[in-house]
Amino acid sequence: MADEGCSYDHAVAAFPALTRTNAATLATGCHPGRTGVFGNRVWHPELGHINTAVVDDVRRLRGAGAMPQASVAERLSRSGRSTVVVGNGSAGCTYLLNPGSDAGHGARIASVGPEHEAHRSVPSGVRAAIEELGPRPASDDEALEWAVAAGVVSITTRAPDLLIFWSGQPDTAHHATGLTSTTSIEAIRRTDRAVRTLHSAVLDTGRECNLILTADHGFCETIESPELTGTLDRIAERSGLPPNGFVPTFNSGAVFGYFEPGTAPRLRADMTARIVQEPWAGPVFCADAHCPDGAFPLSLAVSGDSPFTPDLVITMRTEPADQCGPADPPARALHARADGTQPYSGVHGTVHPADMRIPLILHGPAFKTRTRRDEPAGPADIAATAYTLVTGAPLDDVDGRVLTESLRDVTDAPELLVEERTIRRGETSVSVRRTGSHSYLVGGVSGHRTPPEHRDPTQGLAEPAASGRQADSGNEE
Ligand SMILES: [Zn+2]
Repeated sequence: MADEGCSYDHAVAAFPALTRTNAATLATGCHPGRTGVFGNRVWHPELGHINTAVVDDVRRLRGAGAMPQASVAERLSRSGRSTVVVGNGSAGCTYLLNPGSDAGHGARIASVGPEHEAHRSVPSGVRAAIEELGPRPASDDEALEWAVAAGVVSITTRAPDLLIFWSGQPDTAHHATGLTSTTSIEAIRRTDRAVRTLHSAVLDTGRECNLILTADHGFCETIESPELTGTLDRIAERSGLPPNGFVPTFNSGAVFGYFEPGTAPRLRADMTARIVQEPWAGPVFCADAHCPDGAFPLSLAVSGDSPFTPDLVITMRTEPADQCGPADPPARALHARADGTQPYSGVHGTVHPADMRIPLILHGPAFKTRTRRDEPAGPADIAATAYTLVTGAPLDDVDGRVLTESLRDVTDAPELLVEERTIRRGETSVSVRRTGSHSYLVGGVSGHRTPPEHRDPTQGLAEPAASGRQADSGNEE
């Protein structure tokens, strides 16, 4: 499909490169700085800890004002168009793809998660056909096949204007077993087969199929999986913060930091400056107006002023070597975890280009054929482009741009200038690629500090484990 269609060489995830960050951005066309959905685990002074894999947690977050934007599915519904979301990630992830489904705007089908969140606003004909598939399987593996079958039934029973299909399979396998394991390779193959099955199902109805294939983030192999709760507590204490004055949340390759409201700017800056010096820290992003030397302003990576923005996004250290070709060994990064939690073999959420980079292939009659593009692009642009493909109108008031350079019918679009710049803080740097008025964080490099001698590269690494998922929140990151 990449060879036949229009493929982007510089597509990147919304930063931070985490699952639910990107689900919310893909759903709305808005970046996390405006949705306020920054990651998988977030904190808010009034709500406490929120796990966005859990639907009720996301509802609480939205109830407090996060993700105020209507989803693409919701907007399409208001103009009489239909959307079906089929989610094979956590129930919270599926919900984020269209929260409006609770109120009848577009259908939502979740193959994973609690039974009472399995269907919302599914047309009765489709619902009856899905019930004939039998109950949702308990195992993660079978849940993907069930989701594909539900997608096919949705297409054949009442073809929607937009189908969003989300497979959680490769992510779960990569975290548990690393990138090169048999389990991971099989997960990719199964997802490939799922795409083929859904694509064929649309063509079999006699309709055209414009297909956009992408991912929510890239991946690195885990170098080491340090437990950081105690470390961060000690740094906070040395910075003069009171107990619980700094709340971390752990997001795989990133740690979000929240200062208690009212914390003096001097203490915040002191703590940030200390974290920058830590041997496990890669680029550190600071939302403060007074960002200390060594940290990067968060506005370089994320625009918007959502009150749910973390004070710090601490990305984990990465190795400079990138995975340039399929045969190269995977890029590597540290995985951060709370004390007592499970190490993972695969990690994302850092600024390593391997974490930020995503596939983006546009295939079908609306798109140019046999084209490779140099422009940066991401999930917000996919939302804007999908909306315009269905309605012919632009999606107003979003961060994403319509990817006009990919469209077959648009032959007079001005060539957009692409430029990339690198911003340095000592030995650490991040790179931003721009096209027109849109900018994208495409990667970063950690300083080359010598790791502590006691470091054992195998310490804290997970034994390859069979992929599996608890009923609700699960392993998805
Ligand atoms: Zn993940």
